[in-house]
Amino acid sequence: MKIDIHSHILPKEWPDLKKRYGYGGWVQLDHHCKGQAKMMKDGKVFRVIQENCWDPEVRIKEMDQSGGTVQVLSTVPVMFSYWAKPQDTLDLAQILNNDLAATVKKYPKRFVGLGTLPLQAPELAVKEMHRCVSELGFPGVQIGSHVNEWDLNAPELYDIYAAAEKLNCCLFVHPWDMQIDGRMSKYWFPWLIGMPTETTMAICSMIMGGIFEKFPKLKVCFAHGGGAFPYTVGRISHGFNVRPDLCAMDNKVDPRKYLGSFYTDSLVHDRGALRLLTSVVGEDKVILGTDYPFPLGELEPGKLIDSMDDFDHKLKDKLKAGNALEFLGLSRKQFE
Ligand SMILES: [Zn+2]
Repeated sequence: MKIDIHSHILPKEWPDLKKRYGYGGWVQLDHHCKGQAKMMKDGKVFRVIQENCWDPEVRIKEMDQSGGTVQVLSTVPVMFSYWAKPQDTLDLAQILNNDLAATVKKYPKRFVGLGTLPLQAPELAVKEMHRCVSELGFPGVQIGSHVNEWDLNAPELYDIYAAAEKLNCCLFVHPWDMQIDGRMSKYWFPWLIGMPTETTMAICSMIMGGIFEKFPKLKVCFAHGGGAFPYTVGRISHGFNVRPDLCAMDNKVDPRKYLGSFYTDSLVHDRGALRLLTSVVGEDKVILGTDYPFPLGELEPGKLIDSMDDFDHKLKDKLKAGNALEFLGLSRKQFE
């Protein structure tokens, strides 16, 4: 069994958001030819996508070909729209969440849904989280690595974490809104360097902000193997201890102590990195993630995990399915 915690989906279409809300900045799909669409943002092409980005039947066919069992679906982070008016972000989140719920309902053995929330308005976000869990049946939500000016330690987000604990709603943290101009404008740096940096900041903010102390039952999984964190935790811990005046003002606990208390996906594209990742964050805490259907992802789900000669069958099964089920709070039986 292979459960992919990290895959993105969009509805085939949605209303004209500029018309609906009265201002621009939104993403629309332009189905310019059969099987392809342009993601358009204010008249510019953001990304060209194929039908496997919106068509569940195509996804299932590709899963069957590549050996995937289940995809855990979340929206494409550019849809988070935390910058917009809260009511409008809520409205869009509901459009996306309802579409996702319909897909999961149609194919419950192949798909699991993670909702999206208007995080810039915590009160609305908590309400939508309730709806995601209680009405739509999602085991969790996907959140951005930051929310406008807030990092994930922001006290404004505490109510969301408290609700997630209470509802047993897991959080999948995805990097987004990277710097794209200046020195970052060349060589795809926002994706290659900005994204791992975003994720590292998200982890450090939650640790140093004491989020895991205040909300010990919170279940969090960070995308892309936790960014640079697993490799730089030694430096971060050392820095924390030599400059507590700069690092330990909100939480006195050494960052190393949280290794083993949060999850990451397995998307690191390198055997040495996956070995380091499992030994640093824990064999129970790494979950197969592919970033399907995008080109920076792992096209054959679990190929890297399967290629690990020194991982036994039991460990590989944990990474490919067991840890995902544990994180999501779901049973293997429902997908057999
Ligand atoms: Zn992704």
